[in-house]
Parts: sequence; structure tokens; C-alpha cells
Amino acid sequence: MSMDEEWAKEVSDILRKQVGDFYAAKSRDKIRMDISEYQEKALKTAVYPAGMKIIYPALGLAGEAGEVADKVKKIVRDKNDSDEMKRDIAAEIGDCLWYCAVLANDLGFDLAQIADGNLQKLADRQQRGVLHGSGDKR
Ligand SMILES: [Mg+2]
Repeated sequence: MSMDEEWAKEVSDILRKQVGDFYAAKSRDKIRMDISEYQEKALKTAVYPAGMKIIYPALGLAGEAGEVADKVKKIVRDKNDSDEMKRDIAAEIGDCLWYCAVLANDLGFDLAQIADGNLQKLADRQQRGVLHGSGDKR
């Protein structure tokens, strides 16, 4: 195994452990929320110029996704698997969710429609054996 492959495996192992620990903690909390209700509540804090519809939340989503990636990078770099770091990443995921909710609304969609459509798409791909692969329309 080359040094690059060893490094990639180490990174993959660290990330797998982080994600597993996070979801294990969340599953213990058993918090349930209606995603349409979340979207309605999120929209109450969506304050930006009407001329910025779609653009504002799309750019915000990209920024927040970058914050998630940056924090994951720091986990790898610093080998920091603290609960605080996981909570920080969870907060950034929440920021992503907020922008998703607002962007969906600007495009005329209920977030629940999008969530359901996504699950149906993935289930269909799984059934057809094309879950792994590339291409949006497979
Ligand atoms: Mg953020």
C-alpha cells in the first residue's frame, strides 16, 4: 500500500468513526420533527431582499456546505474526535438545512416533497442496482 493509499485509508477510517459516533448519539435522543413544519418555521427567519430569491439561499447553502467540509478537514488534520467538534459540525448541517428549506421555498417546493422525491429516487436506484455509480439521471 502506497503512502497515499495509507493516508486515504486513515482518513476514511477517521471519518467513518466520526459519522458513526455522531449518528449513534443522535439515535439515542429520538427527536422527531415534521420537515414541512421545520420549513415553515425556518421561513420566519428568512429575511433578504426579494430580488435575491434563489440566489441568496443557493450561495448561503454553498457557504455552509463549505463550513461543514472545513470542520471535517480539521477533524482529519487535528485528529480531533471531540463531542464539541461533532456538535459544531451538526450546527453547520443545521445551517445547510435552513438554506435548503429556504431555497426549496424560493423554487416553489415544500421541503417534504423534495425529501420524499429524493428517497424515492434512491430506492429506485437501489432496486435497479445502480445506487453506486455516476450520473444524475441513472
Ligand atoms: Mg454556519
